[in-house]
Amino acid sequence: MQASPTQSTHQVTITLLLLIGAIVVARLTHPVERLKQFLYEHPSLEQLHIDDLILGALGGAFFILTLLLLQMKNHYRSAANNSAEKHQHYELLSQLPVAVAAVNAHSQIQISNQTFSELTRHCPHDEIFSIISTLIDKVSPVAPHAAVTQKHFDLFKNSETYINWLLFRQRDENYVLLGVDENHLKEVTTELSISRQIIEQAPIGILVTQPDMRIEYVNDAFQQVTGYSLKEVTGATPSILQSGIHNQTFYKEMQHSLQETGHWQGEIWNKRKSGEQYLEWLSITALVDLSGEVTNYIGMFSEITAQEHVKQKLRNLAYFDGLTSLANRAHIEELIAEQINTADDRIFCLLFIDIDGFKRINDSLGHEIGDELLVAFAKRLQHNIRETDIPSRWGGDEFIIGFKASNPSSDIAKVCENLLHIMKQPFWVKDRELSITVSIGVCTHSAESNSVEALIRNADTAMYLAKRKGKCRYEVFSQELHKELTENLEIEGHLRKALKEQSLDVHFQPQITTTPHYKVSGIEALARWHHSTLGHIPPGKFIPVAESTGLIGELGRVIIKQAFNQFSQCSDIDHTLELSVNLNATQLSDPDIVEFIIHTAAAAGISCNKVKLEITEDIFIEDIQAALKKLNMLKSVGFKISLDDFGTGYSSLSYLKEFDIDELKIDRSFVKGIERSPVNQAIIKAIFSMTDFMGIRCIVEGIETQQQLEVLHELNSHHFQGFLFSKPLPIMELIDYLNSTNSTNHLPNKK
Ligand code: C2E
Ligand code: MG
Ligand code: MG
Repeated sequence: MQASPTQSTHQVTITLLLLIGAIVVARLTHPVERLKQFLYEHPSLEQLHIDDLILGALGGAFFILTLLLLQMKNHYRSAANNSAEKHQHYELLSQLPVAVAAVNAHSQIQISNQTFSELTRHCPHDEIFSIISTLIDKVSPVAPHAAVTQKHFDLFKNSETYINWLLFRQRDENYVLLGVDENHLKEVTTELSISRQIIEQAPIGILVTQPDMRIEYVNDAFQQVTGYSLKEVTGATPSILQSGIHNQTFYKEMQHSLQETGHWQGEIWNKRKSGEQYLEWLSITALVDLSGEVTNYIGMFSEITAQEHVKQKLRNLAYFDGLTSLANRAHIEELIAEQINTADDRIFCLLFIDIDGFKRINDSLGHEIGDELLVAFAKRLQHNIRETDIPSRWGGDEFIIGFKASNPSSDIAKVCENLLHIMKQPFWVKDRELSITVSIGVCTHSAESNSVEALIRNADTAMYLAKRKGKCRYEVFSQELHKELTENLEIEGHLRKALKEQSLDVHFQPQITTTPHYKVSGIEALARWHHSTLGHIPPGKFIPVAESTGLIGELGRVIIKQAFNQFSQCSDIDHTLELSVNLNATQLSDPDIVEFIIHTAAAAGISCNKVKLEITEDIFIEDIQAALKKLNMLKSVGFKISLDDFGTGYSSLSYLKEFDIDELKIDRSFVKGIERSPVNQAIIKAIFSMTDFMGIRCIVEGIETQQQLEVLHELNSHHFQGFLFSKPLPIMELIDYLNSTNSTNHLPNKK
């Protein structure tokens, strides 16, 4: 049956379609259906996987169709004779998934759509006619519509189905017949039910409000996140969720966006019923009707509080050191770049700090203690710098501090000296007292150090030199310093060669005792190195190089061996003579050192109680317990222990209490200018009374003049070492010195 495009049939068609639309709209008045429409319009919410499920739902199709029809109606009013549009409308009518037919008072079909033809194609014409007649008979002024269900065998599908027929009476005694295949209806219903379940159980919170923002629907996820039930929030506005974190401008902007664009989305802190605040990603969309009036607002949200924490954690991982929580490499580089690019009268200074001997602590005491030490170190570092200074962990035991200084030279000195001092104070790690020192390299922003990379590299170089110069000090980068480092590297190369060629010597400096009369009581073995082209290289230059390169172990053994061997020649002259050898921290950390010393002394035929081991306080820095254990082992076989350079290190009297030392050597820095320094005199006097009380012998080093000797006599000093008596001598000259002293009973001065 073909439709004829006349004006009256147009009206029938439009009315028919409006009717269908109205039925569908009625079905969609539930918020869930409106949500389906919303989801359908928001393909970006793909994660819900709802679109695929609802795309085919006829309800949606009906609804869209209804909208189109309303538009069509308006169009008809304004342009009724537009034949192209009319054609489109017939197309629409023919594609409608509901059988539609216009029927006259004689039960004759005037016009029908494609679905009608398909639904009735296996149905005899008489049967249709009979159904229509039955329906027309049922219609009355009280009930202008009637329905009947027709059992129908679909030959094509070879299945039985039921068709629901619905007849509506029009004012002009015409009728509209609608037919829906029940199987088809079931499919739609199932899909609608699935969609509803999905929305209700969706993992994201959904709420629907009236245009005045009063809530009319919330899903399960909403209830779980907020703690409010549907009943509790129905009629309330979303402001019950306000956390108080955002100001009014935030909500005004949201409102403005909804009014202007019908949409708002972003992060928002809300509050649960329990009062707990949470962060959500919220998307609000206004639903509008054909006249543009807002019918509803739909809000969909996902709680992202956990993600925010993860984000924060990731940010921390990316920018902060996991162990110490200080800024990490990447972060400090950014911060330095920021500082040097900000114009300022002040100059940017960078401190590169390295913990001396940290590796040894880590290796001997374990990484756990090492890590805790680093954490404690970082805390101390942070507490001892200004808030504006930027501390960071560069890696391992290396730290960087950046700051701006108006007066770089004095500011750097102040900061560095303070850091050197505070880091010397003991750390308590797992009930262990650990003492450390740091070496600091400094670089200031200048033409030669004008980038982040150059600043760090040069400060690192300066730090390296500070290490090589004996640690526990700071060096400021300069071209001269660079030259010095190059020299140091050269020394290292030569030293390796010298050790291989065994070209190092040992000299001995006499130690004098005045009780009961002047006498050489001992000799100190000191390393000597004469290089064929560089000439005499003092220990002050090569010992720090040997220490920083690890060559000290080998060098120390060479010197100790030579000293022990040569000493036997002097002990023949005076059997009361004692030999002192220097033993520094790195040497003592050698696990075989105790065995080596005992074995070497025995091999040289020296009695252990004739040997004094001169240690410095830095021996106690890293692992006091291990150092004490080794020293006690040496003491137990007869070696004496002498504390060298007293007054230059930590001078922590607790070491004296803890370890039974035999001798203490006051550093020569206290002797220099002692004649004019009442302070130095007072210090030396105090040390004497302490060592007297403890029964420790006290030697004063570096006596160069008669005046110094006289002052020291007055202070009741009895043991000396210094150029006034003798410089360090090679063994043959020492033998002469000892022989002449023994024969004359006088001390030959200034040899
Ligand atoms: P130290 O153990 O304190 O040795 C004393 C230093 O003071 C020696 O310097 C000695 O020559 C110097 N000295 C002694 N009397 C005077 C004086 O009246 N005036 C002045 N200005 N100096 C005096 P040296 O030989 O240059 O050694 C420097 C340091 O190098 C030693 O200080 C010691 O710490 C280290 N050292 C030297 N040889 C060895 C060695 O074989 N092993 C180890 N581990 N260190 C050594
Ligand atoms: Mg010494
Ligand atoms: Mg000394």
